[in-house]
Amino acid sequence: MSKSKVLVIYTGGTIGMVRDPETGSLVPFDFEHILDKVPELKQFDFGIDTISFDPIIDSSNMTPEIWIRLVEIIESNYHEYSGFVILHGTDTMAYTASALSFMLHNLEKPVVFTGSQLPMGMIRTDGKENLITAIEIAADRKDNMAQVPEVCVFFQDKLYRGNRTTKYNAENFRAFRSDNYPPLAEIGLHIKYNYPFIRYRTMKEVFFVSKKMDNRVALLKIFPGISESMVRAIFEIEGVRAVVMETFGSGNAPNASWFIDLVKQAVDKGVIILNVTQCLAGSVEMWRYETGVKLEQLGVVNGYDLTTEAAITKMMFLLGRETSITQIKRKLNKSLRGEI
Ligand code: ASP
Repeated sequence: MSKSKVLVIYTGGTIGMVRDPETGSLVPFDFEHILDKVPELKQFDFGIDTISFDPIIDSSNMTPEIWIRLVEIIESNYHEYSGFVILHGTDTMAYTASALSFMLHNLEKPVVFTGSQLPMGMIRTDGKENLITAIEIAADRKDNMAQVPEVCVFFQDKLYRGNRTTKYNAENFRAFRSDNYPPLAEIGLHIKYNYPFIRYRTMKEVFFVSKKMDNRVALLKIFPGISESMVRAIFEIEGVRAVVMETFGSGNAPNASWFIDLVKQAVDKGVIILNVTQCLAGSVEMWRYETGVKLEQLGVVNGYDLTTEAAITKMMFLLGRETSITQIKRKLNKSLRGEI
């Protein structure tokens, strides 16, 4: 491929709203005419094609089925484009970016997620800048290789590894954080890539996609005063195969005997429990306190510094692919896409 060409996939979210000149209200952007709406894009010396979901969705309605649809679009267009931009609502962008990072195997091209806090049709919108820069990054190649062959999230002035992000601000233009991993690029006058932190594949293996996600996963957030019946209800949900447990600090949970017994019973009957921290930064270290050591002894899996978004989607991905619990636990402890 000599010249870059980027495919922009619009799923929905605030970014795609423009003001209807007749009614003055915000209506979805017609992506067929993206070059007319954002004329700056015409200055790029590469092609831009667009695909728009119909209907477009608020990202609160995102589902694993839609993740599968997204990876199918990337799969069928993979060889024609040098990079992909996915426009997505900010609310669940960190989940979708995490999910796709696992579902796309041996990725050699950028898949850049972006969106905005203010609609494209508003004067102070952050959408235009986000869109233009995301497209530039998706097209950027050096020595005939993508600068960032990863699933990432670009917002305001930083490019992050997608499976390291969390939405933390509902109104600030800087909506995302990645506290446990440095930005892959910082954008000011220039795009400054943080090369030592970008994953470049050394083995040339063929790109393929996973299309199976098993959502029999529950999320249990521990809090002081949590009741036995609530914890029991979660562990005993019919069909549940795994529980992501958000614990305190470095992976600690109550050591009351009822709690320990419930964890033990769940592990014994084959429910996989993955321990992640409620803290935005830092890692689970179950050996640090007695309250964590106990969990480790019971067979709770260490989630290290995984975000909750990455933990849930990685679990769905592994449950969809693997049958052996031992194998799933082994892969949970391994960094598959730089998520740990
Ligand atoms: N609720 C919207 C969504 O996530 C918010 C946004 O686009 O930022 O789709």
